[in-house]
Amino acid sequence: MRYIRLVPSHPTDDWSTRHSVLTTARRTAALINALTDEGARPSDVADVLRAYGEADPIELTPHDVATMRTAAAHLREVFTAEHTDEAAATLNGLLREHTGPLRLTSHGGTAPWHPHLDHADDAPWAEWLLASSCMALTVLTWDQQRPPGRTCASPTCRNVFITQGSGQERRYCSRRCATRERVAAHRRARAAERPDSPHA
Ligand SMILES: [Zn+2]
Repeated sequence: MRYIRLVPSHPTDDWSTRHSVLTTARRTAALINALTDEGARPSDVADVLRAYGEADPIELTPHDVATMRTAAAHLREVFTAEHTDEAAATLNGLLREHTGPLRLTSHGGTAPWHPHLDHADDAPWAEWLLASSCMALTVLTWDQQRPPGRTCASPTCRNVFITQGSGQERRYCSRRCATRERVAAHRRARAAERPDSPHA
C-alpha cells in the first residue's frame, strides 16, 4: 500500500515519529544505498521497505527493482548537491519531470490523511519512490535551508545519508566508515613520520 502503516505488533512505537518526514527521507537514503548495488534482488529491496514499516506482502519484481534503480540514480543527485541552490534546482527538475500534482489520500480510510505526489495509490514502485522521496527531501530543504543529505566522505563508499537529525555535522554514512577512515589517516600520518621505515 506504499505507506508506513501502524503495525499492531509494535503498539509502543510512536506513530508521528515513524511517519515523520525525517523517517521517510532516511528510507529514501536506505533505498538508494540498497539499489546502488547492481546485484540487489527484490528480496533485498523488500527488506529495506519492511525495515521502514511497509506491511507484507511486499510484491516486487526484477522489473520493479530495475526501474527503482533508475529512480534512485535520479534521487542520488540531490545528495551530491554541494549547496542548497543546487539541491533545490535538482529537486525542482525531479518534481517537474517525475511527479504528479500534490494530493491528499487516506488509502481508503486505512491511514491518516497525508500528502502524496504520485498519480495514484497503486502507482508503480519506481513512481512511488520518486514521489515520496521528492516530498520528504523538498520539505527538509524548505525546513533547514540546506541540502537534506550528502554522500559518504569515504572514497571507498558510495552510500548517501540524511544529515539532519544526526547532531553534529556528519561526514560519513556510518560509524564503520568513520572508523575505517580514521585508522587509514592515522596510518598515513605514521608512515609520513617515518619515511625510511619499510611499509607495514
Ligand atoms: Zn560510508
